Amino acid sequence: MTPRLTCSIPACKRTRHNREGFSDWICGKHWTMAPKEMRATYSKARRNYRKRFGDNAYWHYPAGSEMRLAALAANKALWEAWRRCLDDVTGRCMAGGEL
Ligand SMILES: [Zn+2]
Repeated sequence: MTPRLTCSIPACKRTRHNREGFSDWICGKHWTMAPKEMRATYSKARRNYRKRFGDNAYWHYPAGSEMRLAALAANKALWEAWRRCLDDVTGRCMAGGEL
């Protein structure tokens, strides 16, 4: 069994199951604190990825192949959009003492 995930916001104690094997997660309460546009950018990046590659992670494609490079770039965009949300909410929590 995979260990439960803890919310990526420092000091947040919320957890969830990790049947999908994610490496990071932001809990529902903190996720809604991210600006709508940032969340929309993330959702769009996720939809783009799924549309092109389905559930395949980039390492499913042979190293150096065109598909691998495209999946890697799409994955990077997705990850960056997620990081922006995380940084924004973390900053907000620090400022508001709402951790
Ligand atoms: Zn949280």
